[in-house]
Amino acid sequence: MINRNTKKKTRFTDFLSGDYAQDYINQDTPYEEQIEHAAKLIREADCILLGAGAGMSTAAGAEYGGKFFEENFAEFQKLYGKGPYMQDMYYAGFYPFPDQESKWGLWSHLALLAGIDLDVTPLHKTLLDALKGKKLFLLSTNADDQFEKAGLPAEKIFTTQGSYRLIQCRRACHPKTYDAEALFRRMERERVNGKIPTALVPKCPVCGGEMTMNLRVDDFFVEDEAWHTAEERFSRFLSECMDQKTVLLELGVGFNTPTIIRFPFEKLTREHQNISLIRLSRSKAMVPASLGSRAIGINADMARSITDLAEKLRPFPPSSNGF
Ligand SMILES: [Zn+2]
Repeated sequence: MINRNTKKKTRFTDFLSGDYAQDYINQDTPYEEQIEHAAKLIREADCILLGAGAGMSTAAGAEYGGKFFEENFAEFQKLYGKGPYMQDMYYAGFYPFPDQESKWGLWSHLALLAGIDLDVTPLHKTLLDALKGKKLFLLSTNADDQFEKAGLPAEKIFTTQGSYRLIQCRRACHPKTYDAEALFRRMERERVNGKIPTALVPKCPVCGGEMTMNLRVDDFFVEDEAWHTAEERFSRFLSECMDQKTVLLELGVGFNTPTIIRFPFEKLTREHQNISLIRLSRSKAMVPASLGSRAIGINADMARSITDLAEKLRPFPPSSNGF
């Protein structure tokens, strides 16, 4: 890894935090007041750091289980049963596949549905439109690239956990990822009974071994050059905003991987008086009481809270802006 950091930069590894707040509360401020307060903080902010978790994609309409899974993975349920794995897209990927042909048969299908072909961008667009003109950056644990599809430039995005369109050496023998969209589409066309033709099974171009998705599930996750470039941009954004009025806008981050966005956002807010935290979540928007009015936790359907927030942030029509 090339180390281009200067002394004052906060690297991603320093940003991460495992501190679990001991004073979580669900705020009892009425919803309307919370939205009003959140809009005010955003309006007055110089920098907005978005932190997006799985709840954002779900709120925007992405589906992973239930009827959606039954309809789209019937072929695999027939082969592998409806046991614990074949219930939703998250667990399906962990099925102990008998061979590489079967593994890629499911994974190519899953990567297309959960990421490459997923389009739940209207809510993402609503949010981005509302934040126009702000100095903005996105930290995301989602692998579905929805903010980028919604128009946020790639140089303002740091996706820490990988992407559904990339594959890598399973043993991480070299720090490179490979765009697999075309390969996945071919696998999707040529799959028979859950399996892709052996000729399509990807092999590591360096060690000749198996390949896997570039998703962080174990210590073999490859952080490629693009990952490090994004990390560098994230660090730069953080150091530039550290002394300015900054809002950390957290979107659908629960407790699955809280050390990447949730806890670090709390820590930053705790340590910097000029930083505020707005936490949007359907049911996990509790915030540390000690952060006082610098933290707003809005427990609500995020399709609603984001839309309401955007509505409040909409610029006044010229006739009524008072100028
Ligand atoms: Zn290799």
